[in-house]
Amino acid sequence: MNHIDVLGLLRQYGLHTNKNLGQNFLKDPSVLEGIAKAALPFGENGILEIGAGIGSLTTLLCQRAKKVVTVEIDRSLQPLLEAQVPFPHHSFLWKDILECDYSALSGEYFSKEPFTIVGNLPYYITTEILSALLMSGQWNCAVLMVQKEVAERLLCPPGSKEYRALSVLTQAFCKGELLFEVPPHCFQPAPHVWSGVLRLTPKDSGIEDREGFARFVKSAFLARRKMFAASPAVQQALKMNKEQLSALLRSADLPENARGETFSPEQFINLYKLAQKNFL
Ligand code: SAM
Repeated sequence: MNHIDVLGLLRQYGLHTNKNLGQNFLKDPSVLEGIAKAALPFGENGILEIGAGIGSLTTLLCQRAKKVVTVEIDRSLQPLLEAQVPFPHHSFLWKDILECDYSALSGEYFSKEPFTIVGNLPYYITTEILSALLMSGQWNCAVLMVQKEVAERLLCPPGSKEYRALSVLTQAFCKGELLFEVPPHCFQPAPHVWSGVLRLTPKDSGIEDREGFARFVKSAFLARRKMFAASPAVQQALKMNKEQLSALLRSADLPENARGETFSPEQFINLYKLAQKNFL
């Protein structure tokens, strides 16, 4: 299949890609198809797309989903996009995704039913977008193109060098899969790195206060390579002294000299629940 003529289409509207907005547009139809296919079994109630670009993925989603809402920050794309995406069951929201309230969007566009998130993410704000998604419980599946190394970091096991708070939160709240990898030449312009399509499916963690859990997990990573209970940074962040932290570890059957970055997502959940019950 021929690649999409991204530059030709932009030129028709006097536009250029904007590097500052992470505009690496997909031009390989098979990759677009792969993303749409991975998202659509879950997209029955509607799809929230992050970042429209020239509307290539938007169009594929609109051809199959009941309702699609796309959040795009770059208003200069509006004339092009309105011509390319002429579907009555599609809406554009000209906004910064980081200012979106997923709960409000759910009420406004998806009758409070769970919706699917799809996006070839702007890489400069991947972490912020993922953090916000993980704090919101409104969606039933997210299919996201991210840098390959970010996908690997999110899914890596406890104790590994790349394991961090966002890996714990991702794995605590979701089942994560790296579906396929995408080389730079599939984009216009080509990024410097390989990408990966990640699918996140929420699972029940039993955690109600996600923000509190996130603060708890982040505190454990303030003291990499240090003992969790003995670390002043952890003690200060959790407002617990060394004895209390040691007691917390004992109550979770963990050794008192354990290091925070070795705890699995399940151990973090258990520790947080015990801490909430007995100490916080
Ligand atoms: N979906 C298109 C594709 O696959 O070709 C575009 C992907 S491009 C990597 C990322 C898109 O996100 C761009 O259209 C960019 O303008 C948009 N974007 C960047 N920052 C944004 C933000 N803060 N909020 C919403 N959209 C943003």
